[in-house]
Amino acid sequence: MIMKPKGTYDVVGKDAVKLQKINRLIDYFCDFYNYDYIRTPIFESQELFHRTVGDTSDIVTKETYDFKDRSERELTLRPEGTAGVVRSFIENKMYGENLPKKFFYNGTMYRYERPGNGRNREFTQFGLEILGSNDPATDAEVISMPYRLFEELGFKDLTVKINNLGAKEDRASYRNELVNYLKPHIHELCSDCQNRFNTNPLRILDCKVDHDSEILKNAPSILDYQSEESKKRFQKVLEYLTFLDVDYEVDEKLVRGLDYYDYTVFEIVCDKEILGGASTIAAGGRYNDLVESLGGPSIPCMGFASGLERVMLAMEDDYFSEKRPLNCYILYVNEEEKMKAITLAQDLRISGLSVDYDTTGRSLKSQFKEADRNNAELLIILNSDDLNKGLITVKDNKTKEETKIDENEIIDYIVSNG
Ligand code: ATP
Ligand code: MG
Repeated sequence: MIMKPKGTYDVVGKDAVKLQKINRLIDYFCDFYNYDYIRTPIFESQELFHRTVGDTSDIVTKETYDFKDRSERELTLRPEGTAGVVRSFIENKMYGENLPKKFFYNGTMYRYERPGNGRNREFTQFGLEILGSNDPATDAEVISMPYRLFEELGFKDLTVKINNLGAKEDRASYRNELVNYLKPHIHELCSDCQNRFNTNPLRILDCKVDHDSEILKNAPSILDYQSEESKKRFQKVLEYLTFLDVDYEVDEKLVRGLDYYDYTVFEIVCDKEILGGASTIAAGGRYNDLVESLGGPSIPCMGFASGLERVMLAMEDDYFSEKRPLNCYILYVNEEEKMKAITLAQDLRISGLSVDYDTTGRSLKSQFKEADRNNAELLIILNSDDLNKGLITVKDNKTKEETKIDENEIIDYIVSNG
């Protein structure tokens, strides 16, 4: 038997129902908040991710799926969505159009990680990007939108952790201070931290191994190394979040794993045991230098991404356990009735109703059972005697009330009662 590759999974049964609900809600929310759908390639040039996510990031050093195609092109399966969106924004010269551009994407990403609860090698991210605005209100929107969306999905114990990394220049002076502080202690930290000391010392701050060590607790705070302008900006973001009724917690140790972030960074954390070490269901931040570093003009941006597998895992089962209802199930016995069933189903379906009928030769009795299994609201019971008189029997599956309807009025009747 051929099995699925390690770290991948099939979405079936309850999970499929959950994922579909999530996807529908995402589409609604993105309409309401005015985000346009964008789809970029699943593989891109390797260089794109080295230059954006960062040469020394965990993702690029340990997690990417890199490969050469048959013409020796060096390609990478996308580990995240922002790099592709920004590449497309520049390549299609969208910076010359009306700004800001507000995009959302929803697709699979690939990282070679150790699989576990909420951690897969192929996983799905829904994300937002606002390109072309530095207004703190955009930071607040990109944080509050997923927060409200998760609430709508039944989540109750959500916390937003938020930090301010400041401008690249602010970060350079903080980095020096941090390196000086850590130098005498670095041998006491984990081996990952020792490597990060030379490549990306800020990442030491949110090391999962050394998280509770006194050394990190007493480290200088990045919030003390900000320009007045950056401090004011961050205060404004927090003020907007308070007004939007978002529960947040400033976490001066929060540093994201992607190199391109500056100013605001945040995570939405869900306190559910099942997620274990994968409690971050969404994360993002501002990336004001990324467009320019990829060869475009200087365009400030803000974005976030959420791992939908984690959202699915943390979602209460009973919230979505029920199979979606079917508006109508059509029952028939002979071929004449079946012809009517097929055409009626088509007419009702294109009138916007969900409809089905038996295709396995079930007896009438088991067609009734199948209608119940499908949560059918209305039953259309076809029989030749009625049909010859131009009539069709409709039964309300809840009240069990039956009505005979004129064949010519059946569509209108079902549409208004279905
Ligand atoms: P973590 O610290 O959990 O590894 P990350 O910092 O690598 O997360 P990001 O790159 O910021 O995460 O991705 C944003 C979101 O995508 C995460 O908050 C999470 O919800 C989801 N995500 C990241 N990696 C995976 C994965 N391997 N499997 C499932 N979801 C993931
Ligand atoms: Mg990771």
